[in-house]
Amino acid sequence: RFISLEGGEGAGKSTQLRALAAALRVRGLEVVETREPGGSEGAEAIRALLLTGGADRWSPRAEALLFAAARADHIEKTIRPALERGAWVLSDRFLDSSRAYQGQGELSDADILALHRIGSAGFLPDRTLLLTLPEAEASGRARARDGDTTDRIGGRASDFHRAVADAFTRFAQEESDRVHGVDASGPAEVVTVRLLDAIEDLLP
Ligand code: C5P
Repeated sequence: RFISLEGGEGAGKSTQLRALAAALRVRGLEVVETREPGGSEGAEAIRALLLTGGADRWSPRAEALLFAAARADHIEKTIRPALERGAWVLSDRFLDSSRAYQGQGELSDADILALHRIGSAGFLPDRTLLLTLPEAEASGRARARDGDTTDRIGGRASDFHRAVADAFTRFAQEESDRVHGVDASGPAEVVTVRLLDAIEDLLP
C-alpha cells in the first residue's frame, strides 16, 4: 500500500511518519519511508535545486515542472519497486502538496494534475493522511523547529500558507475516499493512533 502524509509546515508530518512506520513494522510489514521533494537519487538532486536560492529562484511554471519531474523519478525508482515486492510505502508529502503549493499561482489544479498525468500516469496513493492543526499552533511549532523561517522555500507570507491549508481542506472534502483529515493536535502518541485508525481498513 502507498500512503502519503500531507499538511502545512509544523503539523508534525516527519515525526508522525516515523512513528507510523514503526507501528506498521510491529505488525510485520516491510515499510519504506520516503519524502518529497526527493525520495530517489535524481529527485533528491532536484530537491537541492528547489530548496536553495529562495522563493524567487524559479518561475512558477519551472518550479511546478521540477516538482513533477522529481515525483516521476521518485515513483519509478523508489515507490513502484517497493510496492511490487509487497512493501508499504509512506511518503512525507506527495502530489497534493504540489496541488496545494504550486497550484497557488498561475497554474490551476487541473494544470498540476495534467503535469502529473504526463509525468507519472496519474499515479495516486491508496490513502492520503492530511495532518490538520490550527494555524497558530502550526506556526508556533514550525518556528520552534526552524527559528525565524517557517518556510524552507523562503519568504512566502502567511497568506500563502493559509491558502495552502485551505486547498488541503478542499481535497479532503472533495476526495474523501482517498484524503482523510487527521487532527494533529495533542501528544504525538495520540496522533499516531489517529493515523492508524485512518488506515485501519487497508491493513492486512
Ligand atoms: O515541510 P517540509 O520539509 O515537508 O517541506 C519542505 C518545503 O518545501 C516546505 O517549505 C514546503 O512549503 C515546500 N514545498 C513546496 N511544494 C511542494 C512540497 C514542498 O513548496 N510540492
